[in-house]
Amino acid sequence: MAKDIEIVTIKADCRSWNPKMNRCECVWNKKCMRENKQCADYEPIELDRLIEKSIEVLQSFAPPNGEPYYVAYSGGKDSIVLLHLVKMSGVPFDAHYNLTTIDPPPVVQAIKANPDISINYPKRTMWQLIEKKGLPTRLRRWCCKELKEGGGNGRFVLTGVRWAESPKRATRGAVEVSQTRTGRKERYNFDNEGANQFKFCPTKGAKILNPIINWKVGDIWAFIERFGLEYPAQYDEGWSRLGCIACPLGNSGKRDFEIYPTYRVAFEHALKRYFEAYPRPDGPGNEKEWIDWYISGGRGKKVEEELFAREDEEE
Ligand code: SF4
Ligand code: SF4
Repeated sequence: MAKDIEIVTIKADCRSWNPKMNRCECVWNKKCMRENKQCADYEPIELDRLIEKSIEVLQSFAPPNGEPYYVAYSGGKDSIVLLHLVKMSGVPFDAHYNLTTIDPPPVVQAIKANPDISINYPKRTMWQLIEKKGLPTRLRRWCCKELKEGGGNGRFVLTGVRWAESPKRATRGAVEVSQTRTGRKERYNFDNEGANQFKFCPTKGAKILNPIINWKVGDIWAFIERFGLEYPAQYDEGWSRLGCIACPLGNSGKRDFEIYPTYRVAFEHALKRYFEAYPRPDGPGNEKEWIDWYISGGRGKKVEEELFAREDEEE
């Protein structure tokens, strides 16, 4: 028994250990190799150092003209940490959540109850968009652009992006500046010379600061625990991420529709209307079958390209 207790303690202090999922999010994924003293990737959590650095970054990049940061809040664990750090740093900010209309209801409830966050409503709901465009797919994820990525134009945006989340995010910079004329994006990181070269310039294009980009999952949960922050209960129920219901980029559509069956009905109704509005030579599609296809991972690239390749006239 004493050995078990010792193992738990060792895992809990590693930056890559996800205590909610009970697994390592490093290369070893699931089993902690440190139990056998084999892990070369072990890194102890040093929360004070991380907090200090993130607050320093938030304070030093704050626009000198007193303009508040635009916090792009997603409702997940990383956003929760980001918002608390912003408050600790004392910089001016306003926080915004882009409602997608396929958000998990507990996330929306928590956001509505938080006076620090305002909600941006989309021009068209997911259902109205499906009626016009068909289903989004891994290759055609138009819904992110329509529902999730707006807001913060011309502002200095803060995000909770972290390198450890995905290989794609590992290419992001700690500070990112888009040049309005060329569309080129410059990236700087905190731990190299680039950070020192960055100078805030209000006339440049979009500016993004990712203050927790170097945090790992163990750091995030240790921070939430230390400050007693509230978080959506789904994390305790085995959800590793909170996002849109039945997102085509994930693999949780089946589970999501079991938990929220009315959303499946709404997807089917919208798709039925799409098939009625845009009949195909081989007859209308069967919306139930297509929703099954959708939540099984949407495989069959050729079919999806042919069926849902219409352009939306309202774009
Ligand atoms: S990085 Fe190594 S020590 Fe840390 S949780 Fe993973 S396997 Fe365990
Ligand atoms: S469902 Fe997925 S792809 Fe669509 S807006 Fe949400 S996160 Fe983006």
